[in-house]
Amino acid sequence: MATPQLGNCPKCRKLYLRIRNICDECHQKAEEDFLKTAAYLREYPGSTIQEVSEETKVSVAQIREYILTGRILMGSFPNLTYPCETCGNMIRVGRVCKSCTTQIKQLDPNSQKEVDRSPERDDKAGGYITRYL
Ligand SMILES: [Zn+2]
Ligand SMILES: [Zn+2]
Repeated sequence: MATPQLGNCPKCRKLYLRIRNICDECHQKAEEDFLKTAAYLREYPGSTIQEVSEETKVSVAQIREYILTGRILMGSFPNLTYPCETCGNMIRVGRVCKSCTTQIKQLDPNSQKEVDRSPERDDKAGGYITRYL
């Protein structure tokens, strides 16, 4: 087993023993925030991410992280969207929106393989989303 090393927490920049990818304090906070977010969504499944953030005081970025790590499942919450990593457009699938994905792929020839995996006909937004739920 490797000995944990000291590093700076990516969230609060504090020096900590790298047992996990963020420090204990931030991990605690993220867990508490997750419980708040999950409890709120259970009660108000039709909320938007802004409403959840305002009511729970959990940042949109943090809620987005719960969604991206699969802790909050989009399928249960029809109005939940989160900002694209690059342009801030609201999306429900992936880390970046479709137009940014296209741009990134044009800039990076090494990601050509991923282009092939995208559905050939995705002009209908509804179909595109349900395919990934
Ligand atoms: Zn921290
Ligand atoms: Zn975008």
